[in-house]
Amino acid sequence: MTGSKYVLEANNVRLLIDCGLYQEREYRSRNWEPFPIPPSTLDAVLLTHAHVDHCGLLPKLVREGFQGKIYCTDASAEIAQIILLDAAKLQEEDAEFKKERHRRENRKGPFPEIPLYTVGDAEASFPLFTPVKYGEVVQISEGVTAKFHDAGHVLGSSMIKVTVSQDGERRSIIFSGDVGRWDRPILQDPDMFNETDFMLIESTYGDRVHEDAPDVSEKLAEIVNSTWKARGNIIVPSFALQRSQEIMYHLNELLIENRIPHLMVFLDSPMAARITEVFKRHSELFDKEMSWLMRHDRSPFDFTGLKMTHTVDESKAINHISGTIMVIAGSGMCTGGRIKHHLVTNITRPESTILFVGYQAMGTLGRHIVDGAEEVRILGQHYPVRARIAQIHGFSSHADKNELLRLLSELKKAPRRLFVVHGEAGAASNFGEFLREKTGWDISIPEYKEEVLLD
Ligand SMILES: [Zn+2]
Repeated sequence: MTGSKYVLEANNVRLLIDCGLYQEREYRSRNWEPFPIPPSTLDAVLLTHAHVDHCGLLPKLVREGFQGKIYCTDASAEIAQIILLDAAKLQEEDAEFKKERHRRENRKGPFPEIPLYTVGDAEASFPLFTPVKYGEVVQISEGVTAKFHDAGHVLGSSMIKVTVSQDGERRSIIFSGDVGRWDRPILQDPDMFNETDFMLIESTYGDRVHEDAPDVSEKLAEIVNSTWKARGNIIVPSFALQRSQEIMYHLNELLIENRIPHLMVFLDSPMAARITEVFKRHSELFDKEMSWLMRHDRSPFDFTGLKMTHTVDESKAINHISGTIMVIAGSGMCTGGRIKHHLVTNITRPESTILFVGYQAMGTLGRHIVDGAEEVRILGQHYPVRARIAQIHGFSSHADKNELLRLLSELKKAPRRLFVVHGEAGAASNFGEFLREKTGWDISIPEYKEEVLLD
């Protein structure tokens, strides 16, 4: 599901579409293996968006010899650089930690105790980023063009259509990247396509139908108001890209409508704060409602009471404030970051609420808490869970099976072939079957490292 990477060869050029990091435990060793294709033989990278499972191996690609351009939207370039720097720092810390542990336990791990890549490696990839605009026809090389379309998934996210002309014939192929959803806050709806010869479509939620969008605002208002009455705090573990900005969007709306009291809200994540700055710089990417708010001085990123904390001291000082506050901090699944300190001070308080707004993977602290653990271990200490544990669903930024089908609904004729990719095996095969039934098209699910001739 992660580690997204596709190589397209045409007209004597080799393009890499996305260069993602593997995140699943069982595939993580692939991050350390040499690339199946020597990076120096690639002519360019086309990047769909800035999530680490799509861009996270770029520094390694560059260190191992890639010298071409990395094409993506300017918002993606800015966000990817923030995310890659953060990932590099984590890799460096991880390597130190591992070295120390192996020394203590007097053993060796399966991989060298060096970072997968360093901050220096990440920075070395930055000059290769080449920003493009949605809808612009980008000439990659003779007879090969690419066009980036809004995917509505996260800020700057794209579906990329590559067109190849050769001997008077033309073929096109669409790489969906991650597909977003219709009628979401801040972002535009995903673009649709009239025609394509080939297409790769993601299937993260290809076997699921999202619940009818519950009223997120309604639920959020209830949680804020009841926690305010109880004089507790609201602690929100959240991802830095898109989810944090969506929470601010909803809070802003509730404040404008006077449905919640004017509490202090801390965005306690330097990465989320930096990414929010990118949002502010790219208001041209916003949907109608969001643009209206910006024009009328009602930006969700500047409402009264909102504070972005940068230093660790500022972060720690939050815990001395009396009265109800909300803290949005990472990591989204409570596996690291500043959220842990806020959990320590609030999880034993029955008047506080821990509010989950995203998926919690098996084995994470977040998952233990949502699953109703009575006691949890945070930063080496055990704490009884006494706070209220709340969850708001409906924040997903991935299209479900019906929305993925909707994306294809404007194609006037069947693509020559359609490939279902980027989903767990079950989701991919389930979605492939669903599509075959609905469309009768030629649909396949490629294997890792499979080569396909497109003619
Ligand atoms: Zn994504």
